[in-house]
Amino acid sequence: MLEALRESAGLWRLPLTTPTLPPATMTNHYLVGDLEAVLVDPAAPARVDQNRLAALLEEAQRAGIVVQALFLTHHHRDHVGAALDLRARLGLPVWAHARTADLLPEIRVDRLVADAEMVARNADGSPWQAIHTPGHAPGHLVLWHATTSVLVAGDMVAGEGTILIDPQDGHMGDYLASLDKMARLHPHALAPAHGQVLHEAVAVLDHYRLHRLAREQKVLEALPRTWTEVDVLLPAAYGDVSRLAWPIALRSMQSHLIHLAELSRVERSGELWRRLT
Ligand SMILES: [Zn+2]
Repeated sequence: MLEALRESAGLWRLPLTTPTLPPATMTNHYLVGDLEAVLVDPAAPARVDQNRLAALLEEAQRAGIVVQALFLTHHHRDHVGAALDLRARLGLPVWAHARTADLLPEIRVDRLVADAEMVARNADGSPWQAIHTPGHAPGHLVLWHATTSVLVAGDMVAGEGTILIDPQDGHMGDYLASLDKMARLHPHALAPAHGQVLHEAVAVLDHYRLHRLAREQKVLEALPRTWTEVDVLLPAAYGDVSRLAWPIALRSMQSHLIHLAELSRVERSGELWRRLT
């Protein structure tokens, strides 16, 4: 199974069904590191899929790869759904950022991983480094392999579907800054949690940032200078998006408005907003 799943040096991808945001239906499970490895995002809830994962990890161990831990990119359900079962079954510890651990009281996190820490290693000695990229989630981590310029990107970008910045646990300003932080590494490839590996990685990251900024400008232009309930802005700001997606668009729009308020371009009073500039 290992050979068929290989994406690049020390990186394997196994997509398995999870309760994720449509149109995506699966979360990629990555084995990262061909000497000392971590399994990124133990997510699949189904027993039959967990059996496949366990078989993959056993095959890796037989090939001389030391699987060290279950690694969580962030706390969302479609990334952690198998953590407890796989820990019990395989005896592997769980590693995650401190903010992720805070948001997952039901899962004991054994190692708190901070920005720039090495979490895996390839046989040539090259490290995989965790990079803190808050925004989609406060404790979001990506994994960077400088030798091959590959970023395991979690939910920072998607090969399928879109990335929701939810006002409840996300932050648009942080997300935009984290996209910049990733682009400054000049990656060649982005290995996302949902969908295929993305090439032209710097262009993809630029596109994501520009797309968000263009949307934010639309939201700003739709908002009047008088106090307004924001759901009336949806047709102007998200008219190009299917109505079925408007409940999600509304949450995304609130994140844009919060960001605009931080930039002193809009003002909020309870559920009402108005434009200042
Ligand atoms: Zn997520």
